[in-house]
Amino acid sequence: MQRQTSQRTAIETVFRATKRPLAPQEILDAARDEVPTLNLATVYRTLKRMVEDRFLHPVELPGEPARYELQEAADKHHHHFRCGTCDSVFDLKGCVNGLSKLLPAGFHMSGHDIVIYGDCRACNA
Ligand SMILES: [Zn+2]
Ligand SMILES: [Zn+2]
Repeated sequence: MQRQTSQRTAIETVFRATKRPLAPQEILDAARDEVPTLNLATVYRTLKRMVEDRFLHPVELPGEPARYELQEAADKHHHHFRCGTCDSVFDLKGCVNGLSKLLPAGFHMSGHDIVIYGDCRACNA
């Protein structure tokens, strides 16, 4: 039990420090410094529980396995940037006005999802 708690704490710390959506492998790589015995199966199991507890929220990008972000970040309307070089995903602040102008007459928009693709600062340097 003690061990399970420290694994969860290590994963929580990774999310609070990184501040962007993370894939299970990225979480494993970052949390392993803290808990060397951690493995991918445990990460998946802990992530599932953290989603059930509404600590984490899954981030689904088209055609990709889920990444995860803090529920408190997910509660604020925002979009994502995906780096095509390092495969990292970043949060974007704010949104775009006037999306409903794209709709044909008579259509009603109930929501939207925006992903911007490109290269992040580190990869672009
Ligand atoms: Zn990058
Ligand atoms: Zn938006």
